[in-house]
Amino acid sequence: MEYENGYQQQQLQQSRYDCLLFDVDDTLYPFSSGLSTECTKNIKEYMVNKLNIEENKVLEMCVQLYKDYGTTMAGLRALGYDFDHDDYHSFVHGRLPYEYLKPDPVLRSLLNSLPIRKVIFSNANEAHVSEVLSRLGLEDCFDDVICFESLNPKTQTTDAPKSDDEPVGSLPTSPIVCKPSENAFQQAFKMANINPHTTLFFDDSIRNIQTAKLTGLGTVLVGSSQRKKGVDYALESIHNIREAVPELWELVNKSNNVQRSRKIAIETPVEA
Ligand SMILES: [Mg+2]
Repeated sequence: MEYENGYQQQQLQQSRYDCLLFDVDDTLYPFSSGLSTECTKNIKEYMVNKLNIEENKVLEMCVQLYKDYGTTMAGLRALGYDFDHDDYHSFVHGRLPYEYLKPDPVLRSLLNSLPIRKVIFSNANEAHVSEVLSRLGLEDCFDDVICFESLNPKTQTTDAPKSDDEPVGSLPTSPIVCKPSENAFQQAFKMANINPHTTLFFDDSIRNIQTAKLTGLGTVLVGSSQRKKGVDYALESIHNIREAVPELWELVNKSNNVQRSRKIAIETPVEA
């Protein structure tokens, strides 16, 4: 028996990946669901109604801050706008038409067929992540969740850095920790005990993927089949994991084979 356990362990060690790390929005469900479009509308409304930003500037700002900081929220804080994070999240995410998302039994069975640790890594708040996972019917498919609150605990200072302290020509830093900053990835690795060199990361943002690559993660760009720099695999839909990364299931087959041969080994003496 000891030999067989050792054998199985050896087989498991041959896989490159012992963890799968997933973004949520536009990764676990497609952009075409319309949820992200509604989210952008809410962000623009927040900027106009709560931060008194001129309506005709909002779209451009929204796009630029998302690009520069990973989330519009992080960008707004970097610019010195002060607001309560929970208030922002309940305005932007709390009012989303979550009924746009339907249970996804295909993804559920793909995830459940992989005996590999699965962790969520999202810039969104905990309530949003949990609502999305539950609407998709995936609430019990993940071992750990890293989200906004994990990286931005309330105890930390909420004072935005003064932008005039920054050197000319560089962007002011944001007090918010989020993807694609390398710091966000490193903190997530520590919190969820992740070795980036044996972890495969799924995200729809090319910027997140490119930082991920620098940290040593294997990378899967979701929502586009175009391979770009820093992208190990590119999938139009998360449903294509099995076709795109068959090596994840090779491990499963190997471990099933080990179990089968073990069963035979156990049964043989009974028959003798
Ligand atoms: Mg995303």
